[in-house]
Amino acid sequence: MTKSLKNIVIVGASYLGKRAATALAASQALSAAHRIILIERNSHFSHLFQFPRISIIPGYEHKALIPFDNLFRDAVCQSGIVRAAVTKVAEGHVELDREVAEFGTTVPYEFLVYATGSRLSPPGNVPGEGKQEGIAYFRGIQVQAAKAKRIVCIGGGAVGVQIATDLKTYMPEKEVHIVHSRATLLNRFHPDLHKTVLDTCIEYGIHTHLNSRATIPQGGFPNGQHPFTITLSDGTSIPDVDLALTCTGQTFNSGPIAHLVPQHINPDGTVHVLPTLQVPTHPHIFCVGDINDILRIKTVKAAIPQIDVLVSNITSLSQNELASAVVAKPRAGIHLTIGVNREVFCRMESQVEGAAGEVERRDFEGDAHLTGKRLEGIWEQLGAGTGDMFR
Ligand SMILES: Cc1cc2nc3c(=O)[nH]c(=O)nc-3n(C[C@H](O)[C@H](O)[C@H](O)COP(=O)(O)OP(=O)(O)OC[C@H]3O[C@@H](n4cnc5c(N)ncnc54)[C@H](O)[C@@H]3O)c2cc1C
Repeated sequence: MTKSLKNIVIVGASYLGKRAATALAASQALSAAHRIILIERNSHFSHLFQFPRISIIPGYEHKALIPFDNLFRDAVCQSGIVRAAVTKVAEGHVELDREVAEFGTTVPYEFLVYATGSRLSPPGNVPGEGKQEGIAYFRGIQVQAAKAKRIVCIGGGAVGVQIATDLKTYMPEKEVHIVHSRATLLNRFHPDLHKTVLDTCIEYGIHTHLNSRATIPQGGFPNGQHPFTITLSDGTSIPDVDLALTCTGQTFNSGPIAHLVPQHINPDGTVHVLPTLQVPTHPHIFCVGDINDILRIKTVKAAIPQIDVLVSNITSLSQNELASAVVAKPRAGIHLTIGVNREVFCRMESQVEGAAGEVERRDFEGDAHLTGKRLEGIWEQLGAGTGDMFR
């Protein structure tokens, strides 16, 4: 990488960060004076959408962790990826948790794109930062699930519902419970989604405990050690549990930027941005994806239009023009598998609670989501060859 070019630094190489980096890198307008530096703490791209299913069904875990080998294949700007965690965002530079070639522990930036998203409890995410640790984690959970007789998913959002329904269709002999603190499952979405999912749970024989919180012991559940009892806030309990999976909410990764812009960190941990995606006090810092407060219901699909806005505004600022592109009012929705042979689509007019929408259920033959072309397709999108999917 050459030092005379100005750096556009992107922090986080997941769905939005890698899109931002490759779109910026493909910009002729930026290529003369800028280079693209993508910083990511994980060695591989985590295809989170498949994590619930891969936790249950063996044989695919290596396919959901994808190397970044050839990400910048269409770049016209100088571009590269740096493997490190950003510990601090400061004025004009970011600090890293380790020494990296050329920079040491400090990377200067002209523009910063903060795309650090959120962290979920495993199996919504994997512990560790390397592929081998990820594979080992999934294989461990698969073995525990196969051995367990009674399994409890704590949280009736997308991850909890997907795991519970996959479990009951893949291993129907298991007793499966969902414990959810709200009156409706997937409560941010259109109420018909709750009805569809609840009907499916009843059909499959999944026990749902709504309006109830589980007590999670400090240090976590003794999964795989001995059967245990889970006490619920409605006064009941679930005895002889073999495996409990915590599928509760996301924690937004705003820590590294929080000290620079404390006034723009929302109570939920997201970063407040203008419709131009700029942090209000720092026009050269942009946030994209789950980490900003544009979307109430966080999905990749609804966030993708942010990439065009980002590229347009960085290009304008680099040419001493105003950042004038703004994000349009986003719609909302989710596409969820509810069992190995069933999926449901929810589409909503807007992100506002109670917005009009429609819910459609589809049943199909075979496991289209894992054994079809979907996983290979993500490798191709990332430019990673599928010859050796264990790398
Ligand atoms: C099980 C599951 C299924 C889903 N299914 C769908 C779906 O079907 N369709 C859909 O549109 N959406 C789906 N979503 C939502 C979607 O995954 C999120 O909206 C998406 O992950 C957000 O992407 P992001 O790039 O903003 O952040 P994230 O995916 O959260 O990624 C953030 C990245 O930043 C990195 N990072 C964080 N902090 C640092 C740091 N300090 N230094 C360096 N790197 C850092 C992380 O390692 C990570 O790679 C699903 C989510 C889950 C959990």
